[in-house]
Amino acid sequence: MSKSVSLEEAAGFLLRHQRILVLAHQKPDGDALGSVLGMRSFLRNLGKQADALFPSPLPERYRSFAGPVLTALSRQEAERNYDLIVLLDCANAERIACGPALDADFLRSRNLLNIDHHVGNNVGAPYNYIDSTASAASEIAVELAQATGKAIPAEAATLWYLGILTDTGSFRFTNTTGKTLRLAADLLDAGADSERVVNAVYFSKPRRQQQFEAELLQSCVKTALDGRYAYASIPPELFAKYNFDMRDGEGLIDLLREIDGTVVAALIYRKNDSYKVSMRSKLREFPVGPIARSLGGGGHDMAAGITLALPDAAAVEAVLLDKVTGLLRPVPEP
Ligand code: 5GP
Ligand code: MN
Repeated sequence: MSKSVSLEEAAGFLLRHQRILVLAHQKPDGDALGSVLGMRSFLRNLGKQADALFPSPLPERYRSFAGPVLTALSRQEAERNYDLIVLLDCANAERIACGPALDADFLRSRNLLNIDHHVGNNVGAPYNYIDSTASAASEIAVELAQATGKAIPAEAATLWYLGILTDTGSFRFTNTTGKTLRLAADLLDAGADSERVVNAVYFSKPRRQQQFEAELLQSCVKTALDGRYAYASIPPELFAKYNFDMRDGEGLIDLLREIDGTVVAALIYRKNDSYKVSMRSKLREFPVGPIARSLGGGGHDMAAGITLALPDAAAVEAVLLDKVTGLLRPVPEP
């Protein structure tokens, strides 16, 4: 059984349960981390037992916000210790960050509430609240908290502000709505520490990352279609040279997006036996989500990703160039 619930019903779940596990997607970004840790703080403030599970190491820039988190959980512990599992910001069943002992089938057999803002969420939890008009899962979390009628503690406000700020690119991306700004304002009123968030997230770049980015821009960026498409394949040696890991690569693609005249940007890098592609669009009339989906990936219209099992980066570049050419090609006059 999998059904949609209303915001009020979802809020009722939070209020009724006492021992709650909060999860997000693998390779957590600011919204995954902020929505989960903010929810943990909000629930603990209500006197509940709430735990966050992050099986892999967190990005450097976010570590100071996490405090102690669970890094592993057995089935027995998951069954015994929790009466509700809340999943945030995770569109795909296979991308739930639950560690090797748990999987989507097990989680679906539990009291699982799936809260997300991705189109095409396929988690199929027993209870789902999906709002694809929300800029961030953290934005939905704020609405949920408000629907409970309970106060949002300053710590949760800070974490949800972090989630909204990072998923909207500091309110620059087209997912920012009037509601996004009103809820962000509510968070500041609730005591969100924007100075702490901004300093940690935007003004704490390690020098070696800056050097990595400089070399990437200098040596790897290619443009096509009259500069409307900018892309780069990151050679493995570059990661090694600057000891840089894509775990800390959130926002890296904006180096390409910010180039004058770019409409579509793509960043390609090797991950295990495949290539990972991040894509962004700057104009709603040229969405990259359909390209990602046509290649087995997913995400939002303006920010999407794909994992491609192709032999080399050149093959990935060729497939993408073909798709982006189709997207950006002017429609012939009739
Ligand atoms: P990012 O480029 O920041 O990794 O991801 C942008 C969006 O695309 C996110 O919403 C993310 O969930 C989605 N996405 C990224 N990589 C993949 C992928 O390999 N498969 C699918 N289905 N979605 C992805
Ligand atoms: Mn998100």
